[in-house]
Amino acid sequence: MVNPLTEPPSIRIGPAGSDGRGYPKALAEIARLGLDCMEVAFTYGVRMKPEMAAAVGEQAAAHGIALSVHAPYYINLAAYEEEKIVASRQRILDSCHRAHLMGARCVVFHAGFYQKRSARETYRLIRDQILTLQAEIRRAGWDIDLCPEITGKPSQFGSARELLALMADTGCGLTVDFAHLLARQQGQIAYDALMPALPDNLHAHFSGIEYTAKGEKKHLRLQPDDFRPLLEALRRHRKQATIICESPAPFEDAVMMKNMVDKEIPTDSGP
Ligand SMILES: [Zn+2]
Repeated sequence: MVNPLTEPPSIRIGPAGSDGRGYPKALAEIARLGLDCMEVAFTYGVRMKPEMAAAVGEQAAAHGIALSVHAPYYINLAAYEEEKIVASRQRILDSCHRAHLMGARCVVFHAGFYQKRSARETYRLIRDQILTLQAEIRRAGWDIDLCPEITGKPSQFGSARELLALMADTGCGLTVDFAHLLARQQGQIAYDALMPALPDNLHAHFSGIEYTAKGEKKHLRLQPDDFRPLLEALRRHRKQATIICESPAPFEDAVMMKNMVDKEIPTDSGP
């Protein structure tokens, strides 16, 4: 039997980034709001000093807030230029270092672009870079899972199929951005077909999303009706999940999601 006082919640909810507050204030706010997790976002570069990462980790641990890290956006592990690949690897490793200091396990990134390459060739290049990164992470002694993210555009590497193959081939993790999946699939997710292929303990992103035939256009505020099918599917398939809210109001919408997680009765629960 699950004791809610000692067991971590099976579905954790929290915001992406500090929403301009700075991390010490953001963590205090997350604790006050009763949220469970936060993703530290190194959007434009890893500028957080190691001492700050350690302090953020201590503060999060004191509040029981689980942390993850999003590496900078400017990453392309399949770039044509070797120096761009080296710089991409360094951004990921710097993110892993700060994650290690924070006690965060999952490091999220968008792995790369096809440009003029075939999907197969792009896959091989990215797979080999992931293996190189994993060797460096092992050498450094960090307990970190690389979690490449399902991306929002079919022109960008990172379909569910590609990332599940990468997970099987390298043992890396993955980040399931359900909003990106909706954008790739024109608003349709066959949850009952997808869920069995996903890990039992998921790292996920969600938000509202605007899309066109070319995929993701922009992230939107999240509505309860967007979240309900996902929440019900997670419960139906007995998944544990850490869901990071990436809407333009990540704290407010995370609170809405958390209220739904706490209040809505699992569909398959007995008396
Ligand atoms: Zn995302």
